[in-house]
Amino acid sequence: MTRVFNFSAGPATLPIDVLEQVRNDLLDWNGSGMSVMEMSHRGKEFVAIAEQATADLKSLLGVPDNYSILWMQGGATGQFSAIPMNLLRGGSTADYVVTGSWGKKAIKEAGRFCTANTAARPVDDVFTHVPAREQWNLDPNAAYVHYTPNETIEGVEFPEVPDVGDVPLVADFSSTFLSRPIDVERFGLIYAGAQKNLGPAGVTIVIVRNDLLGQALPQTPTVLDYQQIAAADSMLNTPPCFAWYVCGLVLQWIKARGGLPAMAERNARKAGKLYDYIDGSGYYRNPVRPSDRSWMNVPFTLPDAGLDAAFLAGAGEIGLSTLKGHRSVGGMRASLYNAMPEAGVDALIDYMKEFARTNG
Ligand SMILES: *Cc1c(COP(=O)(O)O)cnc(C)c1O
Repeated sequence: MTRVFNFSAGPATLPIDVLEQVRNDLLDWNGSGMSVMEMSHRGKEFVAIAEQATADLKSLLGVPDNYSILWMQGGATGQFSAIPMNLLRGGSTADYVVTGSWGKKAIKEAGRFCTANTAARPVDDVFTHVPAREQWNLDPNAAYVHYTPNETIEGVEFPEVPDVGDVPLVADFSSTFLSRPIDVERFGLIYAGAQKNLGPAGVTIVIVRNDLLGQALPQTPTVLDYQQIAAADSMLNTPPCFAWYVCGLVLQWIKARGGLPAMAERNARKAGKLYDYIDGSGYYRNPVRPSDRSWMNVPFTLPDAGLDAAFLAGAGEIGLSTLKGHRSVGGMRASLYNAMPEAGVDALIDYMKEFARTNG
């Protein structure tokens, strides 16, 4: 069997140790005589798996006791609606800082429920930097401020958590969740689809401060109502059991490798290597302001888009997979989530050097 280095933005590569564990457990989880896919979500085996995963997430991220951790479905896209439905709390306005394609989708969906104010957005939607905090136009009546810490398509990442005073800060962490330590107390709500940096598709994590719960719009679907999900320990209805279990294994994998400080060190090194090579190559180009470059998703272009197909074909031949950039920005994109080994980045850089040499 040959495993490729998979640079997909999501669903994305998972740690090989986790996949092997899943394979070992597949027919008979822990002597239960069944797979996790076949268990009752109310049974003691699955409840133990679920509780362990929640406890591991809580300790890894340092989630304070006054926050609830919810395991939901519907993806980050589902949260684009759930957030205004739950967090307007009698208000009619929310602020959105738009730094890329996902922020655009979030503000558009919020506009169905409230006045979604554009607090900051680059001119002509050229998403190559984070707008300076002094230039944000925050509405004093906003129920919350929403931003996207890492824009997966454009590769724009906030170098630090912005200060918005006492207004709850809401963040779409989908593509940078657990890539480095964060101070959860700075946020009213954090959410992330699992399929980038946590596990398989199907689970969406929501971490919400408890004082924000309980004021959902009356028409909020029960499965999107944070208060009700929290009260039911995320088992209001059948959860995505198998995905939850695999996420739990990934959390244990992160823990065993030194937790988030160790992930951060490795991620900074991996991304740093690739950006250094790109900048020094005189051949490849990344348009993002260096201070705002993503550690997770590295878009780059070749000098001539006519070479893209040859670049991708050659990469595929040596097991460097899914490097094609998003259709909206073109070029290439290498996603370097926690599970991408440093050897994958080294192999990519070697290939890029060789390609530039022979096609320069
Ligand atoms: C992938 C992604 C989404 C969409 O996630 P779904 O789970 O497909 O809804 C939203 N925001 C960001 C930042 C993403 O990377």
